[in-house]
Amino acid sequence: MFVSENLTVNENNHLAIGGFDTVELAKEFGTPLYVLDEDLFRKNCRVYKNAIDQYYDGNGLVLYANKSLCTLHTFNIIKQEGLGADVVSGGELYTAIKTGFPMDKVYFHGNNKTDDELEMAVSNGVGHIIVDNMYELERLNEIAKKHGIIQNIMFRIKPGVDAHTHDFIQTGQIDSKFGVALENGEAFEIYEAAHKMSNVNPDGLHCHIGSQIFDVDPFCKAAEIMMDFAGELKNKLGLCIKNLNLGGGFGIRYVESDDPVPYDEYIKHVSQVVKASAQKHGLDVPFILMEPGRSISAPAGITLYTVGAVKDIKNVRKYVSIDGGISDNPRYIMYEAEYTAVIANKAGDAKTDVATIAGKCCESGDLIIENAPIQPAEPGDILAVLATGAYNYSMSSNYNRIPRPAMVAVSGCNAKVIVKRETYDDILKNDIL
Ligand SMILES: *Cc1c(COP(=O)(O)O)cnc(C)c1O
Repeated sequence: MFVSENLTVNENNHLAIGGFDTVELAKEFGTPLYVLDEDLFRKNCRVYKNAIDQYYDGNGLVLYANKSLCTLHTFNIIKQEGLGADVVSGGELYTAIKTGFPMDKVYFHGNNKTDDELEMAVSNGVGHIIVDNMYELERLNEIAKKHGIIQNIMFRIKPGVDAHTHDFIQTGQIDSKFGVALENGEAFEIYEAAHKMSNVNPDGLHCHIGSQIFDVDPFCKAAEIMMDFAGELKNKLGLCIKNLNLGGGFGIRYVESDDPVPYDEYIKHVSQVVKASAQKHGLDVPFILMEPGRSISAPAGITLYTVGAVKDIKNVRKYVSIDGGISDNPRYIMYEAEYTAVIANKAGDAKTDVATIAGKCCESGDLIIENAPIQPAEPGDILAVLATGAYNYSMSSNYNRIPRPAMVAVSGCNAKVIVKRETYDDILKNDIL
């Protein structure tokens, strides 16, 4: 009935997440409120992990993409679940360090890492740095030299696979701020340069072809292109690629019409391609890495709001305003992302109305959903937006000096605050009069 498997309607006709009554959660913790179903988050971690065990002889590691949702608590979960971590900034790395995360399982991304961030990564023993460009490579080699270590690295490669149109067009992809392209020889040149440097060890390949992808073919195509390149590096440079990192981007269901592929299917198909390509090129089967973010965190989260003004503009549209907005979920204003809404206190009722869910920020584009099918909303209702676990809290801001919501994790019989609600004083804490 709902887009995520952990959502049900309980005996009070209320929406429940992981068995918890969302109306009660809103009452106890206030709104807006992010709710994370920890058990589903863990289950999603295990689907990927088990698939690598089943289809790839356990010869790989799942790296959770922290940019989708990063907190001390979620870091601790992925540590317990035995996953690795994809981090993209000093702040995410710092969160890893604070949870005592095993640093050899940390993979540090980013297209413009600062000297301070590289220094922090090297001095803390980050396992792999995914280097984006020549400028970064040169600085990293110097920093590693200063620390007397040889840093394991891989480069981010643009494989020329267009994941969104599904036809593997080789053009256009070169126009991206991330990584180095294959088709103009840039990727080969940077491996050749790194191979000659004293303090970096280029032992892997990385690509990330996009996000919210509903098809296994682009991943298989990318894997094949990467393996062909590994063959070329071995033949021309004698360079052995031990690690193949195929990135994230596995699609999830935000609205009924979304039709995601079961996550283990990706690994099943990609495994076959990688093994066959290794054989074709006479290469060892590489250790495989995958970087799911959204598909682990998004379905596990919802956001609860209180409905305020309901504005029915005759012959135009109906606006249902909530006590949050782009400050806690900027995805509609950024790229017209789609979501599903439910009136949590009328969750089993038919969605007989259509309304645009608007935030309280001073922007006309501050909408969460346009023309959403929904139960008739009244002031005081609790409105739930589903599948908000990814790229909501992590993209939140204090726009209009609105404090960020709290986040509660539910697991078994426990509901626990894992991120406190910001106060007005938190917002002022760096201001100097
Ligand atoms: C964004 C990103 C991911 C995660 O993408 P999802 O769509 O959340 O799975 C993984 N790896 C890299 C390099 C990324 O940029």
